[in-house]
Amino acid sequence: MSQLDRRTFIKLLGAAGVVSTTGGLIFPNNTAAGDKARVVVVGGGFGGATCANYLRQYDSNLNVTLIEPNIQFVTCPFSNTVLAGIKSIKYITHNYDGLRKNYGVNIIHDMVISIDAIAKKLKLKSGETLIYDRLVVSPGISFNWSEIEGANEENSKMMPHAWKAGTQTIFLRKQLEAMKDGGKVIIASPRKPFRAPPAVYERASLIAYYLKKTKPSSKILLIDSSGDSEELAMFRTAWEKLYKGMIEWIDGSEQGEIVSADSKILSLTGRTIGTLKGDVVNLIPPQHAGKIARIAGLVDESGWCPVDPQNFVSTLQKDIHVIGDACIANPMQKTGHSANTQGKVCAAAIVTELGGGTMPDITYSTSIYSFLNPKHAFSSAGVYRLKNGKLKQVAGGLSAKKASRKTRLKEAIFASGWYKGITMDTFGKT
Ligand SMILES: Cc1cc2nc3c(=O)[nH]c(=O)nc-3n(C[C@H](O)[C@H](O)[C@H](O)COP(=O)(O)OP(=O)(O)OC[C@H]3O[C@@H](n4cnc5c(N)ncnc54)[C@H](O)[C@@H]3O)c2cc1C
Repeated sequence: MSQLDRRTFIKLLGAAGVVSTTGGLIFPNNTAAGDKARVVVVGGGFGGATCANYLRQYDSNLNVTLIEPNIQFVTCPFSNTVLAGIKSIKYITHNYDGLRKNYGVNIIHDMVISIDAIAKKLKLKSGETLIYDRLVVSPGISFNWSEIEGANEENSKMMPHAWKAGTQTIFLRKQLEAMKDGGKVIIASPRKPFRAPPAVYERASLIAYYLKKTKPSSKILLIDSSGDSEELAMFRTAWEKLYKGMIEWIDGSEQGEIVSADSKILSLTGRTIGTLKGDVVNLIPPQHAGKIARIAGLVDESGWCPVDPQNFVSTLQKDIHVIGDACIANPMQKTGHSANTQGKVCAAAIVTELGGGTMPDITYSTSIYSFLNPKHAFSSAGVYRLKNGKLKQVAGGLSAKKASRKTRLKEAIFASGWYKGITMDTFGKT
């Protein structure tokens, strides 16, 4: 080794959480095996990034490695404001410097391609293998393209889902900008369970806000397969006031959901609703747990991961915790706030168990804000506790059905505060 001596080189590799090039087993951060407990976290979104940083906050002796393919994370929360031209993509883009610098989390930008739960090791796309004492899996969602004939990741550029934020958000925004006045936007949502159901109604609202300002003769057709809810009723009442005649809601539940798509002519066909053609089509496909959860045998027949909600340990694989959208944590909704809460609970459980203690009683909380325009927002919140090993809602609910403009404005202000707070809590101060 010419410039650097071997010890310094290994130290640098360790500090950056970089993997050796030997292709053999490596220990995150190069500590000797058995020296410190090694916790590996898969996925640097709301669940994984929170869990990694709280593991280190709760026990700075832990060796924590986060594996995430992307150098920056683009949040789905507030991505509908980007579609409406209210916020920029930069506003919703976060890096991992805060986790590295403030909390000493090792970050490896790579993709986990397999997990061996018996040998407690996982394989990365780069060819390296990592070993762990505890594994946390937070891979978010994958799309079940096979349920919609003619739809796939490749042609989703033509009919963007924008249900994972980033390039898809930009595609959809560009299509909305390019659409002529008088055009028709179709939004098609899948049946539950899926990521953040109220965000579909927020999306319809904010696209309507943009169209009303710039292309007022345009229409939105919302094919909604998520079923009836109190939230839907609130949105529909508000749409009558704010966007009268602009949003047509079509019930796609009860077998009405989309079964085929033609990305060349921008048409969607539902079982009971026939074929509909749009100028911009936002097809949000059915969802299940992220692919790696399926590869690792963490999902059941529902397509999601069963866990013990006390510590988010998989009920199917030993010493693996699953958090975030991928896990079944009913009645908590699949939201970033839920994933953040679950990340903290999971971190506390791991630190407690490794230290030989017992977990205290925990209160779980979540909330989701939805904008109807920049000065008008609703929210729903839930507080949960464990009863007989199951999560039970003990408080929470929706915004008041009737409220003054001032109250709705206050909620919009709270929504921005919520976003700043949760992203700082998840990704750390940069
Ligand atoms: C339009 C929209 C608006 C929303 N608004 C809100 C809101 O206002 N409030 C709210 O609370 N929630 C909101 N949500 C929901 C929120 O985005 C998700 O619930 C949240 O992102 C789930 O966190 P997660 O950690 O489970 O998954 P994610 O945040 O998606 O993170 C998963 C990460 O895992 C990585 N990954 C996947 N597979 C692998 C692998 N094999 N190896 C390594 N890494 C891997 C991915 O790259 C990704 O970074 C919204 C969602 C949408 C679509």
